[in-house]
Amino acid sequence: MSVPVCLVPGRSSQRAGLASLLAALITALLLFSSNLAGAASALQKTQVPGYYRVMVGAFEITALYDGYIDVDSKLLKNASEQEIRSLLARIFVKGPQMQTAVNAYLINTGQQLVLIDTGAAKKFGPSLGYLIDNLKAAGYDPAQVDAVLITHLHGDHVNGLVTPEGKPAFANAEIWSAKADNDFWLSSEVAAKAPQDAQPFFKMAQDAAAPYQQIGKWKVFAADGEIVPGIRSVAAPGHTPGHSAYLVASNGQQLLIWGDLVHSHSVQFSRPEVVIEFDVNKKQAVATRKAMFARTAKEKLLVAGMHLPFPGIGHVRSERKGYAWVPIEFGPIRE
Ligand SMILES: [Zn+2]
Repeated sequence: MSVPVCLVPGRSSQRAGLASLLAALITALLLFSSNLAGAASALQKTQVPGYYRVMVGAFEITALYDGYIDVDSKLLKNASEQEIRSLLARIFVKGPQMQTAVNAYLINTGQQLVLIDTGAAKKFGPSLGYLIDNLKAAGYDPAQVDAVLITHLHGDHVNGLVTPEGKPAFANAEIWSAKADNDFWLSSEVAAKAPQDAQPFFKMAQDAAAPYQQIGKWKVFAADGEIVPGIRSVAAPGHTPGHSAYLVASNGQQLLIWGDLVHSHSVQFSRPEVVIEFDVNKKQAVATRKAMFARTAKEKLLVAGMHLPFPGIGHVRSERKGYAWVPIEFGPIRE
């Protein structure tokens, strides 16, 4: 069978075919490389919302991130600077600044919505004051909060009680705090005797309490006892006179929210005797920390802390002469 002449490529048409193939290849290569260059997308530079949930029995616990503050490790006492530096180096922190989270915890008991602490608002700089944003991102509204339980009356825990206009941020909530803290931070006599550099602490506590005192919603509890069904206060004095933890219990499960028992997880779990400058009674703070570490490790109790890395929920394990922090792992809600 003979091939039609027109289908047999001649030399010139062979060259033309090769040239167009080459051109197509070059175009494809150019397109490919320009696609590669064009793959660059704008950086998002946003973080996930600062909330995280776990269940404790039938109670839904939402950890809320207020933000962070860089704390100077030189404020830690009862260990040499060298020892502190080497403990920070174990978690790859150069120091002297330590990134320190400020957390709060929202508990939906099914009957009531209870917030433990309220963050620093905007009074400690721009890296804090995100609690309300994160509470809303978590699906709640400040007006839904029935009760706010305060671990102690330091500004990074109570400033968030008040809006920038000086109004209650939680319009429908009763606020509960320990008598011993009220007697200290809200007392003009105690404030008058305190040194000048401590005055802002007193003012922040008084500014946070005032709008609620005016409407009769500032409540005081005497000592250990149930505040809301399923939530008990546990005296943990030292950091402040009325510093309180809260034990949350539902259907046989428990969570101990321990406030400011720990300011530096890298240092104080292995060295519980290390205190921070802001501890009002340092000796008592050490005794409380040691007792609470021993109890939580022994009972394998789930704990949460306001200055532990967010969400600040986990367990305490005995280790050598001290303890170690074991954070929970990210996961879906499991009942
Ligand atoms: Zn604090």
